[in-house]
Amino acid sequence: VTNAGKIRPLPWHQEVWEQLTDQFLRNLGAHAYLLSGESDTGKHHFANAMSRFLLCRAPIERIACDKCPVCLLNIAGNNPDLLHIKPEDGSKLIKVEQIREIRHFLETSSHAFGHRIVIIDTAENMGVSSGNALLKGLEEPPLGVVFFVLTDRPKAVLSTISSRCQTVKLPGPSQSQSRAWLEQQADVAGDEIELLLDVSQNRPFAALRHLQEGTANRQKEVAQGLLNILRGEESVSSLSARYAKLESKDVLTVLLYWISSLCKYSLSGSQCHLKGRALTQAAVFLPRSTEPAAELIALYDAVSDAQKQLLSSSNPNAQLLLEDILFRVQSVFHNAPGP
Ligand SMILES: [Zn+2]
Repeated sequence: VTNAGKIRPLPWHQEVWEQLTDQFLRNLGAHAYLLSGESDTGKHHFANAMSRFLLCRAPIERIACDKCPVCLLNIAGNNPDLLHIKPEDGSKLIKVEQIREIRHFLETSSHAFGHRIVIIDTAENMGVSSGNALLKGLEEPPLGVVFFVLTDRPKAVLSTISSRCQTVKLPGPSQSQSRAWLEQQADVAGDEIELLLDVSQNRPFAALRHLQEGTANRQKEVAQGLLNILRGEESVSSLSARYAKLESKDVLTVLLYWISSLCKYSLSGSQCHLKGRALTQAAVFLPRSTEPAAELIALYDAVSDAQKQLLSSSNPNAQLLLEDILFRVQSVFHNAPGP
């Protein structure tokens, strides 16, 4: 998320946005919110946009104006009344020193006589000592301070933290909301958007990252190859040779996602598990046995084992391993012909 330009709530957060801004406009805002929601669906965006709104001196229709002195500081990324804490340098944990930074922030007074905001990224990554160091600040924050504590996994957050916050569940987008949003972010064709959302399980910020990093094309190749063997349009040995040139973990990641989606679909009959066109096409080839889900689960375990082997230090022959897995895929799905 860039700092430039008006930062509006995402369409799928609109309702929650109204509720929270209502609270603040009526002076009933909490001093700490636990914002929970699936990864890569826009929690950071929400926290940033809400912070910008709260700090702005003259919001317009519940959106930061982008023109007042405080907004200009926010856009430049150096507002002293906004503190953003996240795990640093490849570390997954929020360190105690970072919590001390928060305490120091709480001890200094507001520079603009308004709200002051602390955003804590990924609360589940806070160890007990960091959590304890934070408690006093969360319990008795100075007037005007608002905490936004973000998490993908609310149950993994220390209860001492979550019990001091008002929990707000941020919903994820529908497929069509993701599609419309991605179209606005980047110049991509409809087909590619379907694929991006497919490989990122309808998490729009992951899809955007795939697009920026170019990993989507690799995943697209994997998905297309799988359809090829299900349709009998390519042999397993030819495909595994092609796959061997890709990152083998990409291949298995796509495959695992496919199998688990098809398994859920097979058990529930619900189309909602078939995200994207490639999966819908693959569903035609589901096993025709009496217990297709059991066969898919066995296949899932095999692929998952293969992935562990690939990631382990024993360094197996990736191409042979992939070939073996693809033969299993071919034998489980119903009308794929032999090699
Ligand atoms: Zn403003």
